Amino acid sequence: MKTLEQLELNGKKAIIRVDFNVPLNDDQKVTDTTRILAAKPTIDAVLQAGGSCILMSHLGRPKGITPALSLKHIVATVSELLGKDVIFASDCIGEDAKAKAAALKAGEVLLLENLRFHSEETQGDTNFAKALANLADVYINDAFGTAHRAHASTTIIAENFEENKAVGKLLQQEIEAIDKVLKTGEKPVLAILGGSKVSSKITIIENILDKVDHLIIGGGMAYTFVKAQGGEVGNSICEDDYLDYTLELLEKAKAKNVQIHLPVDVVATTEFSNESARKTININEIPSGWEGLDAGPTSLENFKKVVLQAKTILWNGPLGVFEFSNFANGTITLGTFIEESTANGAFSLVGGGDSVAAVKQFGFAEKVSYVSTGGGAMLESLEGKTLPGIAALNT
Ligand code: AMP
Repeated sequence: MKTLEQLELNGKKAIIRVDFNVPLNDDQKVTDTTRILAAKPTIDAVLQAGGSCILMSHLGRPKGITPALSLKHIVATVSELLGKDVIFASDCIGEDAKAKAAALKAGEVLLLENLRFHSEETQGDTNFAKALANLADVYINDAFGTAHRAHASTTIIAENFEENKAVGKLLQQEIEAIDKVLKTGEKPVLAILGGSKVSSKITIIENILDKVDHLIIGGGMAYTFVKAQGGEVGNSICEDDYLDYTLELLEKAKAKNVQIHLPVDVVATTEFSNESARKTININEIPSGWEGLDAGPTSLENFKKVVLQAKTILWNGPLGVFEFSNFANGTITLGTFIEESTANGAFSLVGGGDSVAAVKQFGFAEKVSYVSTGGGAMLESLEGKTLPGIAALNT
């Protein structure tokens, strides 16, 4: 796979798949610029190398042309963040796009209309991909968030650029961060898996058991493991269909010398609400009518030791219902442990859905080594899958 630096960009038009699927408010103004800023290093590098950029992205999940999801709403913000006027094509293929791409000069940036206004995008249509490819000389994929989709702009388009394709800087960072954990991580390697269900994380657990030395299992997932081993979990979230399976996982972990750490105490409540009564109890003795919504203090002390001695840390999934302030302590405290371990030299990667939301909400994003920009793409990477968008750059 080529990096940007290995591509000839001088005088070339680069079509770049970015992830500008940004949130808009009711006035169609961008409310979070993270994704645009994340693509900026790649865009700047192309411009500095003497090229021009044709940016393409999806926004939302439109069925056909949907004015509220037009990328024209983000042109002003992208222009401001890039420090230059961005040209806009009112369709991603067709006459307007062709004319504007043909007229594009070195140093200029063209943004194409929402790719998903054409159903061919998500269908991975080869003709649609070719029409996009014909606008440019080189192809760069910098959209990790959609790299797990075999869509026209993320995967199929690459067929049209034999040697002239490369990984963008953001996508490259994501790949390197995952490799640092799963392939080249300094030992001890620790994975922390939380969130609600075991069933949604099975493939991840199976894959990472071969890569880690320690595995902390927290959040709602933990109760299935506790019940399987004979504990009373009361009304806590628990997947009874997976009891045998969790026992198998524990056996597998033992055989692979992976130390599993489960919570020993929990903050339990009588109703799934922030305001209901709370008490800290042993995780094996949760009375009927009570459910555990957060990790307790002894669990956190135990986890602290494991986190502080780890040299490589992967965190996916909260330790409790962090959306309720009264049950966010476990997730926040775990964040402080990871922050401390990172300051001591560990590499820490936070990825996949709700843990990313939690680290942002509680201010840890700058204090860990890397926060992934892709939810589903990160989860599939942790499952050990080769993402089609990345594979397409190799061929
Ligand atoms: P996931 O999408 O599987 O990573 O799960 C994230 C969700 O798990 C968050 O919305 C949390 O509120 C939820 N969660 C974490 N711990 C618990 C728990 N003990 N009981 C119920 N839900 C939980």
